[in-house]
Amino acid sequence: MSGEYVKLRVGDKARFECLRCGRCCIGPNVGLTAFDICRISRFLGLDWKGVKGRYVVAVVADMMAIPVLRDKGGRCVFLEFEGGKSTCTIYPARPIRCRLYPFIPYSPSDEHTVYLDKHCLGLNAHIYTEPPWETLKKYCSEAKQHYSKLYKLIFREGCEPLEALEKVIEDVDELLIKQSHVQDNLYFKQASK
Ligand code: SF4
Ligand code: SF4
Repeated sequence: MSGEYVKLRVGDKARFECLRCGRCCIGPNVGLTAFDICRISRFLGLDWKGVKGRYVVAVVADMMAIPVLRDKGGRCVFLEFEGGKSTCTIYPARPIRCRLYPFIPYSPSDEHTVYLDKHCLGLNAHIYTEPPWETLKKYCSEAKQHYSKLYKLIFREGCEPLEALEKVIEDVDELLIKQSHVQDNLYFKQASK
C-alpha cells in the first residue's frame, strides 16, 4: 500500500465523518463475498441468479473468480444522486466493504488492523471515529469462508473459476436459508411461551 493509506490498529482513531459525497462509490468496483451477494439478492427480492450480470459481475485473475459490483457509467450501479447528496439504493444490504469504508481490511486473518484510505473526503472532521471492529470481524469470518470454499473447489477439485464461484454462492445461500429457519423457530418458541 502507498502513502495514501495509513495503517490503524485497535485503540487508534481517525478524524472522520461521512459527507455522503458518493466519491467512494465512483471508480474501482467493490469486491464482494458470496454472503454480500446473497444479502443483496434477498434485499432486492431476487434469487441470487437474478443479480448475476445485472448487478454483480466476476473478474477472473490467476484462476480465481472475484465477484464485484457492476458499474454504470463509471460509478456503482446502486448509486443515485439527489439534492447534492448521494444515495445508496441498497443501503441496508450494502456490501461489508462499503460499510467499512474509509477503513479497508488489512487481511482476512487480522481482525485488529485496517488501512485508512486518505482519498475519502470526510477525513479531518472534528469527530474522532474508531474503525468499526465488529464489522471487520464479520468481514474476516465471511471472507475466510468464501475464499476457503473457492480454493478447495478450484485447486483441489479442479472446478473452473466461474463454476466454483457459483457453487460457493449456492452453498452460502443454502446456509443463510437454514440460519433464517433457525431464527424463525427460535422466534416462534419465544412467542409461544
Ligand atoms: S468518500 Fe468518504 S465522505 Fe464521501 S461518501 Fe465515501 S465515506 Fe463518505
Ligand atoms: S453498494 Fe452502495 S455504498 Fe456500496 S459502492 Fe454501491 S452505492 Fe456505494
